[in-house]
Order: sequence, then C-alpha cells, then structure tokens
Amino acid sequence: MIVLKTAKELKLMRAAGRISQRALRLAGEAVEPGVTTKEIDAIVRKYIEGQGAAPSFLGYGGFPASACISVNNVVIHGIPSEKRVLKQGDIVSIDVGAYFNGFHGDNAWTFPCGDISEDAQRLLKTTEEALFEGIKAAKSGARIGDIGNAVQQYVELRSYSVVRDFVGHGVGAKLHEDPKVPNYGAPGKGALLRPGMAIAIEPMVNMGSHNVRVLKDKWTTVTADGKLSAHFEHTLAITPDGPVILTLPD
Ligand code: MG
Repeated sequence: MIVLKTAKELKLMRAAGRISQRALRLAGEAVEPGVTTKEIDAIVRKYIEGQGAAPSFLGYGGFPASACISVNNVVIHGIPSEKRVLKQGDIVSIDVGAYFNGFHGDNAWTFPCGDISEDAQRLLKTTEEALFEGIKAAKSGARIGDIGNAVQQYVELRSYSVVRDFVGHGVGAKLHEDPKVPNYGAPGKGALLRPGMAIAIEPMVNMGSHNVRVLKDKWTTVTADGKLSAHFEHTLAITPDGPVILTLPD
C-alpha cells in the first residue's frame, strides 16, 4: 500500500532528510587512507543522535551499525568494522538514514578515498548522473517504470549494469514502504506517481555483470565477478511542480 504524505508530513520528512544529508556529508569528509569504516560509523551515529534523531539503520532487521559502508566490490550493506582500514584508491559507498519526528530520510553516496583510477571515477560519475536521470523522470503522472528505464538506459549506454536484486523504495514513517523502485524497467509500466508520494531512488551500478551475492554474515552484498560497484541515493517527494529532493542541505 502506497502511503501519501500531506504537505505538513513532507515538511517533517524534509527535516529528517536534512539530518540524513548532513550525516552523510560528515561521513564523506572522513573518508581518507588509514581511517576505519567503524570510525566513520561512529561519526554518523554521533551526529544523528546529537540532533535528537535516531540512525534509521541501527538495529533495522538486526543491522549492527548506523551506516552501511561498502568498499570497492561491496555493493551495499557493508558492516562497518575496525578491521576495514581504507586505503588510497578505494571507492567507499556510504548509506545513511535518520529518523526524526516520526519520519525517515535515506541517502547514499560513493566517495573516492584519495586518488582513484580513471575507471573508478567514470563509474562514480555515471552512477551519480544516473540517479539524477531517475529523479528527472519522477514526475507526477509518470510511472515507476519510467524512473527505472531512465536509470537503466543511462547506465547501459555506458556499458555498465544495474543491480536487479536490490531496489529503491517508498519512504515515510517506515524506512521501506511501497512502492518498490527498481533501477530497471519499461516506460509507462508500474505504479502511477502521484503528489504526496515520497520515494528513495538509489541506483547501484556495477562495472561488470549485474549479478551480486550476499556473504555469510547475511548483509554484505558483493559483485559476483569481484568488480567495482557504486551507489547513490536521494529521498524525494513527488509534487505537482516536479520532484523535490528531501535529502539536500539548506
Ligand atoms: Mg534506501
């Protein structure tokens, strides 16, 4: 069931989105060689809790940390660890949500650790741009399939692949609501986009094949071929005047 939000509720979601964005930015600023992913997680938790909010992911389905931190071939759901020391050339996907005043914000970004290869730079740029192609397609009156199609076309034209096994989602009082928002699809298909909907669009783009597998810890999701993967995400509201990104700074 798709829950539509009132203008007042979207305002509250904007506040949660702002905290999520700031936490993500602080995490990104901490990415450098020698830092552990556990240290970055601590920065995220401290900031979110300092705002009187709660990290959306902490304890979600048993997830043991406040941020998902996924390095290189890890696609999503990487568990922060003191053993994971970042090094020059890594790409670091950080996914952060904050729960504030009854609503969640959810966003993700892939940060370079020091200088990264040109191939990796191109992957990050393409994934970020694919996110904004998806956002552009999220107009009232369009359909979920229009978003997925926009992302998929953009990515596949550049010879990368979009992950199929994990998708974007509605966001609201729950972190994951209907509808599912795949990064692939056919134009004109799927649920109608209506004012009051809030969704997270989150392309996960692989340099090689789209296949992924989940490790024994039941969280860490890696590319099946061991190649790099990037992840960018915003939460946005569908409005009569077009999509409005909720996870932006002021
Ligand atoms: Mg999400």
